[in-house]
Amino acid sequence: MDVRMPAKSRSREFQRKISPVAILALTGVLIAALWSALLFEQRRNYEDVDRHSWSDSGGVARTFEEHVDRTFNNIDAVLLVLRQAWVDDRSKFETKVRIMQAAYDDSLLVQIAVINADGTLAYSNLDPDAAPVDLSDREHFQVHRDSDVDELFISKPVKGRVSGRYSIQLTRPIWSHGDHFGGVLVISLNPSYFSGFFGSLDLGEGGSIALVGLDGLVRARGIDLKLDESAIGKVVPGDRPFMQADAPDVGTFEAVSVIDGAKRRISYRRMSEYPMVVAAAKVTDQVFAEHEELWRHYKWGAAVVTLLLLAAGAWLARAVQLQQQLRTRLLFANDSLRTLNTIAIQAGAELDDKFYKALELGCKHLGVEMGVVGALHDNTYVVDKCYSDTFADLKEGDVLELPSTYTPDTFNSSDVVFVRHGSQRHGASLLGSDTFKHECFIGTSVRLGSTLYGVVGFYSTKPYAQEFDDGDREFVRLLGRWIGSSIAEDRAVKELTALATTDSLTGAKSRGYFTTAVDDEISRAHRYRRPLSLVLLDLDYFKRVNDCFGHHSGDETLKHVAGVVQGLLRATDLFARLGGEEFAILMPETQEHEALLVAERLRINVSNSMIETLGGDVHITISAGVAQLKTGEDFKTIYNRADSALYKAKSRGRNRVEAAGSPTVIGV
Ligand code: GH3
Ligand code: MG
Ligand code: MG
Repeated sequence: MDVRMPAKSRSREFQRKISPVAILALTGVLIAALWSALLFEQRRNYEDVDRHSWSDSGGVARTFEEHVDRTFNNIDAVLLVLRQAWVDDRSKFETKVRIMQAAYDDSLLVQIAVINADGTLAYSNLDPDAAPVDLSDREHFQVHRDSDVDELFISKPVKGRVSGRYSIQLTRPIWSHGDHFGGVLVISLNPSYFSGFFGSLDLGEGGSIALVGLDGLVRARGIDLKLDESAIGKVVPGDRPFMQADAPDVGTFEAVSVIDGAKRRISYRRMSEYPMVVAAAKVTDQVFAEHEELWRHYKWGAAVVTLLLLAAGAWLARAVQLQQQLRTRLLFANDSLRTLNTIAIQAGAELDDKFYKALELGCKHLGVEMGVVGALHDNTYVVDKCYSDTFADLKEGDVLELPSTYTPDTFNSSDVVFVRHGSQRHGASLLGSDTFKHECFIGTSVRLGSTLYGVVGFYSTKPYAQEFDDGDREFVRLLGRWIGSSIAEDRAVKELTALATTDSLTGAKSRGYFTTAVDDEISRAHRYRRPLSLVLLDLDYFKRVNDCFGHHSGDETLKHVAGVVQGLLRATDLFARLGGEEFAILMPETQEHEALLVAERLRINVSNSMIETLGGDVHITISAGVAQLKTGEDFKTIYNRADSALYKAKSRGRNRVEAAGSPTVIGV
């Protein structure tokens, strides 16, 4: 009997080969791969953003430097031209100032002024008639007055007394009459010309550019494309790299601004011709804000994918695990049933033993304590065989009650498997017993071909000791079938054996069976030196019965005589029809004189009976010859001696018993 597995599909094959652990491991690897790729890509992207941020601010700083440099150069050239005009001819000077004013609007040019050698304002293009103002305290005035070098001076940002606006002064000294200090020519520049110049350059939110003197004073600062007036004149901390003498002229650094407290990534350049530094900066948080926002989304996406993968992996692993468990149990059931088949084909295995072994195996397989096979009678079943670990064994003939839910009709419908847990109400109970208590039951019908025979049931005392699964059901169903076919087979074998060993007319053993059995009995008698006698019987003038009453009456007569003889013999005597109307009786543990007595009793009984047949009443007698086994004798010789005795009985007139006379018999 095989447990038939469902047809293999590709998915089943897959489920068989792959283990749940492997699925979980694979899920883990996928998740790890996903996150590794994600983090790697994020790192790469971060580095890109980082690099670009530095190159952006570096580029802005370079352009800014060029712009500042060009502006200072131009303004210096203007200073030189105007100074010459001032010295040469005042009216030319004013003309040139107007030209300059037209060339540079007030986004750059705040004021053109001349300070006399005594520090008073000599000229201002803003108000040519302005009253003389004392400017001798101005740094640019003092620098030029106290120096005899003709060089461009770039002042700290100052708030103009005339203009009221912040400006940066670019100044040159005026020399009158050769080398006499004659005053200072001043061009005031609007700081926003520098800071607002880069309106088209995007340094991001909070991005800034600055022009700072090597003296640490901020000349101009633009933030978010606007002039940051509050920063003008502030001093940058001395620890800034561009303030260090040994620092490179071009560099980068990150620092927290003293002006607005924001952390920035700053690219700076020291100007080669002027004591100035230009710097362009991006707010650090802004640099990575977009990157971080993007990757926050990616990470959320990856987290969702991870959860989905985990859920799918766990679900698949569980499904495979359940499938494999079921498969294992089915294979286990198959193995158990194969074991049963081995039991079945063991020569000489009695049905009783088979049941016992099958029930024992069933109990072990299911993990329960008791198994019963019984024949069904209405709502009960009568125990054929029971196997039990813990219950007192039920005896053959004990009656088990099936509850009304399990009627023979129910069992009739198929080999349905019944499973019940937790209640006497659902299980079977032993009639008239208090001790037979159980908590769970699994059972099925036992059928002989199409006929319902009984029930095989398994019981456990433990509540919910076992949740019976599909493998168990299949096992019990197949076990029920197996028991059914074992009973049917046993019955068939018994019928065949009876047919082969029995004479169909008289019910006596057949000649074939007798000749086989007789050898065993003779060797046993020799081995244990026990007495053994043989009686040969023959009906007297039987031919006449046939002749007078017909063959059928002859048959009836044979049957009758056999019945009389069989009725008078012991169970251990072997009575057989050797052929025609001749019979033999093998009597173990019987001496010749005892056999003579038996034969005599048979003769008298036959003789005293009248046989009613269809052909009429028949009276018949028998003759018998008796012999006891001698030492070393075989069947043939003892048969011959008994036959001689029979012949003697016939020849002495029939209806007689004669003994062979066996002086050297064994077992006396
Ligand atoms: P004797 O007393 O010498 O034994 O005479 P007998 O007639 O019994 O012996 P015989 O051997 O001459 O005849 C035996 C007869 O038994 C012959 C046969 O027709 C008959 N016979 C053998 N077997 C059967 C049988 O199965 N049924 C019937 N009706 N007759 C049988
Ligand atoms: Mg005869
Ligand atoms: Mg005969």
